[in-house]
Amino acid sequence: MIPPIASRFVAGETPAEALEYTRDLNQRNVNVILNLLGEHYHERGPADEDAEVYLRLLEDIERSDLSACVSVKPSQVGLDVGTHVYRDNMERIADAADDTFVWIDMEDHTTTDATLDLFEQLTLEHDGGVGVCVQANLKRTKEDLERLADLPGKVRLVKGAYDEPPELAYKEKERVNAAYREYLEFMFEEFDGGIAVGSHDPAMIEYATELHDEYGTDFEIQMLMGVREDAQMELAEEYEVWQYVPYGGKWMSYFYRRAMERKENLLFAARAVLGR
Ligand code: FAD
Repeated sequence: MIPPIASRFVAGETPAEALEYTRDLNQRNVNVILNLLGEHYHERGPADEDAEVYLRLLEDIERSDLSACVSVKPSQVGLDVGTHVYRDNMERIADAADDTFVWIDMEDHTTTDATLDLFEQLTLEHDGGVGVCVQANLKRTKEDLERLADLPGKVRLVKGAYDEPPELAYKEKERVNAAYREYLEFMFEEFDGGIAVGSHDPAMIEYATELHDEYGTDFEIQMLMGVREDAQMELAEEYEVWQYVPYGGKWMSYFYRRAMERKENLLFAARAVLGR
């Protein structure tokens, strides 16, 4: 069982717990993107196993009346083993998600081409039922967005979570923020819809609402479980909000990352340990 200290950021270890959490959140008008924790498998066995879990989860979602979909990391379903493994598993997952939706998370820059190529194939084959994440810190993203503008499906813009080399990525926070705004404007201007603003940053969300007023393009807001949840509930009164909800047995390193990324999270974790 997940200790209470981690349950702010992770919905439980089992699909049943994740689905119960989803039901609660749906009642508060927030939709859910479920992510089974796991990444960087170097053998086919665990990659296939996680793909199977996603297949069963999608069946559960489709049998329920929940507003939920899934988000998968390429290295969780075999990208580090070989492109063919990743492709086989993602194809099975996309086939199983015909009535829901599958997001493909974006990992570091060495995976961008493989991720976008498979996204393109799958979203064309599944009538836009697939989404992909792109990162504002990568200099190549401008060009990638030009390619993505003509495709069906959805695109999630995030600032980027990986430490990338300076020749490929903007390193200063302000420069990443400027790129985020520039890419967001391009999306609202050029996309037919399917824009996902994956950020907790109030300035970026406000900018997205201004662009929506100007261009009228549909968009949704995506934030992580346990981060600015009051804001999520408030935004859900006016906009489509999706919460990204991790679950599964491999919660420890994810929880550690979340706890370390902000002083407030660290204090929250320390208080929980001390029981205050
Ligand atoms: P930051 O630049 O971290 O913070 C800006 C401002 O937002 C802060 O000043 C504060 O006002 C507010 N804020 C941020 N965090 C908090 C907090 N914990 N509590 C209170 N206020 C806060 N990255 C990838 O590389 N690949 C992915 O596939 C990917 N998927 C993601 C999916 C979702 C739904 C989200 C939300 C993020 C995803 N990320 C992904 C992570 C992303 O790249 C960023 O690392 C992460 O979101 C932090 O950037 P930010 O835009 O939230 O704002």
